[in-house]
Amino acid sequence: MISKKLLINILIFLVLFLVLTGCSKSKETISIIDSEETPAESISQKEKTEEETVKPDIDYQKIKPNEAGQVMILMYHSIGNEEKEFTRTPDNFRMDLEKLYKMGYRPISLKDYVEGNINLEAGLSPVVITFDDGNKNQFNIISEEGGTYTIDPECAVGILMDFHNQHPDFPLEATFFVNGGVPFGQKEYLDYKLNFLIEQGMDIGNHTATHFDFTNCTDSKSIENEIWTVKEKVEDIVRGYKVEMLSLPYGSKPKKDESLFQYIVEGKDHSYHNIAIVEVGWDPYKSPYSVDFDPTGIHRVRASDLQEYVKGTGIYDWIDRLENGERSKFISDGDPDKVTIPEEYKEQIDLEKIGDREVVTYILEDSE
Ligand SMILES: [Zn+2]
Repeated sequence: MISKKLLINILIFLVLFLVLTGCSKSKETISIIDSEETPAESISQKEKTEEETVKPDIDYQKIKPNEAGQVMILMYHSIGNEEKEFTRTPDNFRMDLEKLYKMGYRPISLKDYVEGNINLEAGLSPVVITFDDGNKNQFNIISEEGGTYTIDPECAVGILMDFHNQHPDFPLEATFFVNGGVPFGQKEYLDYKLNFLIEQGMDIGNHTATHFDFTNCTDSKSIENEIWTVKEKVEDIVRGYKVEMLSLPYGSKPKKDESLFQYIVEGKDHSYHNIAIVEVGWDPYKSPYSVDFDPTGIHRVRASDLQEYVKGTGIYDWIDRLENGERSKFISDGDPDKVTIPEEYKEQIDLEKIGDREVVTYILEDSE
């Protein structure tokens, strides 16, 4: 768009220039444009390409887009050598990414999920990757020499980056929910790490200053401090970044006044607004366009296959269950400006949540 505008401006300028100067000195300027395609040709070609990308022709019966379907928000904790309840081995984490990739899942940011900005090719499904607790094994620096940092290839960030490099169509999107103290362990690298994550397009979320259990908390001051401390610290280090997503430790919520999570002393220094609040376990969550989608109560799926802990609700269970149609899976129509759904899901769409997007419905034929 910008380049087209610029081209048009250049053309207008040229015409005015030619009229005003009578062509005499314009040879050089004209030759710049002549050296490429003629302006008229390049505009029409650009328009054509834009049209093609904005309005893809998709076969509804083949792709079966369903943007009222559900999305897995995966919950990871540690990456380590022994598979445990809250530890995934590097190889198993790589296996998860490989499986997701092959099954047509692509990571989107948690922010894009809650805001319904889902920009994937037709037929692909969004998945959100999250890490809790800010452990060192999520982001470990092995060494630093002259400003060059070597990231541990076996830590979560190293594995994600390596997978993304090998599969550029698997975006580098993940949210790391950190606590107070020194997120990711190494104090000397803290500034670098936090800034690096944001520069790479990943996100930092809030997991409370002390891994606080909100269950029996009725004191708003404690809640405020728990949330504000982490937000202030990260935002001091990463200038211009906003920490506005919260992961509840133990999935705990205070019994009273849940609105405390949303706004506190608005307009004052310590005010905050969490646009997304994620819980713990056990299932995929609703489409962001759904009537009952609640960004302050987002369910997650445990990224583990240890059945003694996940009991049929782990990442591989849900990949299968979504595939079997036990729950409807979010399948993209390839057009971020449209929300495409089978006719039968029409009632589930909240017109307020879809904003300026256009709703497209179609009749899904039985496929046997
Ligand atoms: Zn935690």
